[in-house]
Amino acid sequence: MIADAQPGHIDQIKQTNAGAVYRLIDQHGPISRIELSKRAQLAPASITKIVRELLEAHLVRETEYQEVGSRGRPAVGLELDSEAWHYLSARISRGGITLALRDLSSKMVVEEQLPLAAEHEEPLLTRILTEVDQFFSRHQRRLERLTAIAITLPGMIDAANGIVHRMPFYAVEDMPLGPALSSRTGLPVFLQHDIGAWTMAEALYGASRGCQNVIQVVIDHNVGAGVITGGRVLHTGSQRVVEIGHTQIDPYGKRCYCGNHGCLETVASTENMLEMAQQRLQLSANSTLRGQPLTVESLCDAALTGDQLAKDIILSVGHSVGRILAIMVNLFNPEKILIGSPLNRAAEILHPAIVSCIQQQSLPIYSQALQVESTQFFNQGTMPGAALVKEALYNGSLLVKLLQG
Ligand SMILES: [Zn+2]
Repeated sequence: MIADAQPGHIDQIKQTNAGAVYRLIDQHGPISRIELSKRAQLAPASITKIVRELLEAHLVRETEYQEVGSRGRPAVGLELDSEAWHYLSARISRGGITLALRDLSSKMVVEEQLPLAAEHEEPLLTRILTEVDQFFSRHQRRLERLTAIAITLPGMIDAANGIVHRMPFYAVEDMPLGPALSSRTGLPVFLQHDIGAWTMAEALYGASRGCQNVIQVVIDHNVGAGVITGGRVLHTGSQRVVEIGHTQIDPYGKRCYCGNHGCLETVASTENMLEMAQQRLQLSANSTLRGQPLTVESLCDAALTGDQLAKDIILSVGHSVGRILAIMVNLFNPEKILIGSPLNRAAEILHPAIVSCIQQQSLPIYSQALQVESTQFFNQGTMPGAALVKEALYNGSLLVKLLQG
């Protein structure tokens, strides 16, 4: 095709092919050039050229290995060479920032959880930049070649331009986080909504590995979901969260920060759930929760030991979330639903409540074989950022930057 001969297209094809080869080496290495050519459906000459560039940049290396079913001499295969390349993966959540240095295989070198107060005289952007600077200087001796910064957070995000329009808990308006971090460090910055990136992390390394159709719901300070359909994250290219937290479930309910009333989040977020537990506790004389600090952990533990009030609170969260999930099951027909929540501590109470709603309220042929389970990662670690970097290597966008040096 003539269009393919245009320079922009050639660059795009080169990027896509390099990313595809890198992905195959990552997923199947050690792998021979012949096998790479078959799996990538690229001519041997193209494979030779791409592999040569990857070898010269020290992104892959050659290794001898015994091919399956062969008793002859060991073959020469390719595997990733990732230890000499680091990136920063950061996650901002309510009151804290987690910063981690990882190598290109996603292996963690060091991770720190630091406080990030919701209210402060300095703007959030300045504080984030300072935390990143200080993290790099604290770990300077361990730093290998830095490749990128990945950052995930809750809020309204323009992922393509690196802008955070709004955040819960922090006073933020159109914060240019991506451009600011990039001009400070000279590194490419990948920004994404926390739930969308977490959904990718579970698909790449966690509980939904190998699944093609998944709904991942997060019940925490915020309530939201990520959807994988046909092996692709829904809304790739923008904010990848599905805002189920702002679906109305009670028209006479509490006012939500989004401007509406009775959103799912106003009954199912951990803060709102604890507030409701506190109110009911004042009317209940015999709950084991009386006289101890009320936290998600203490609520779960009380429910697990049979406390009726605690159980009722968790069941009601399960039923509220389950109602919305039942609708989503009819829309997306997933093979698996993942629940990411500190309430998983009482999964044996929460999950059956969700499952019973789905079974009663969605199409039986869709819900029959559906699996509901906990996410592998928890809502603080930096694997969501790792998934963003992996994606940028696999689609070639970060890889070509590393190849150009
Ligand atoms: Zn709302």
